[in-house]
Amino acid sequence: MKTTQINALTIDVEDYFQVSAFEAYIAKNQWDSVPHRVEKNTHKILDLLDKKQVKATFFTLGWIAERYPEIIKRIVADGHELACHGYEHIRVTEQTPNQFRSDVYKAKNILEQLSGKQVKGYRAASYSINASNLWALNVLQELDFKYSSSIYPVKHDLYGMPDAPRFMFEPISNKDFKEIPITTIRFGNKNWPCGGGGFFRFYPYALSKWALNRVNQHEQQSAIFYFHPWEIDPKQPRQQGLAFKTRTRHYLNLEKMEARINQLLTDFKWDTMENVFDINPRSKP
Ligand SMILES: [Zn+2]
Repeated sequence: MKTTQINALTIDVEDYFQVSAFEAYIAKNQWDSVPHRVEKNTHKILDLLDKKQVKATFFTLGWIAERYPEIIKRIVADGHELACHGYEHIRVTEQTPNQFRSDVYKAKNILEQLSGKQVKGYRAASYSINASNLWALNVLQELDFKYSSSIYPVKHDLYGMPDAPRFMFEPISNKDFKEIPITTIRFGNKNWPCGGGGFFRFYPYALSKWALNRVNQHEQQSAIFYFHPWEIDPKQPRQQGLAFKTRTRHYLNLEKMEARINQLLTDFKWDTMENVFDINPRSKP
């Protein structure tokens, strides 16, 4: 049975070789010379959403939008929300405020030019906004974003801000700007991830279903779920020489992912970030 709570479905549009864990193996100047899979995989996701009549938010890299403008056109034409994932997937923890500003500004412009629409949402590469770089939220607000979904309130070896609020908050006083963290569940005095990624692929689907139901029913909150086009592509080229942990995180259960996403779309109600979190207040005169 579906709950009445509506959740936000999000897709981070990047290719398999752009994930932060591959930085040491595929340099940015090689990106144009390796096989690209993102176009086909994104169309596959759009077909699936069309079949299920679900709208989602696509946090897209400027680098991808430049090379595959027809993906952007279809995202918008199909009624989904287009949002920004930066230009070339640099973690905010690796950037100065000026570098961050110019990367995000460049990506936002590309996306707005191609879509003809204002881009309101931003998600940092690898959830890399945390207690050390909260200045990034001010930069986003100054660039006229309305929300960010870049903080993961968990303790993880690669990212996380375990003490951050678990649900939507306004980080800058007197500014209409929201941070909407990725969904966690509270258990044993700790926050545990349940908004997608490795968690969703490693553990049985039933655990994710239980966790999201708990957030919807027990806490009466909307959840955010994320996945990537490369996660539904078990035939992607296999990168050689990866460390065990990186290899496991990237490739485990890719072949089960499409069926699980299908199930997730059936079991819960979904919509875009801007609709679920009321980024465009409909009550405005
Ligand atoms: Zn990403």
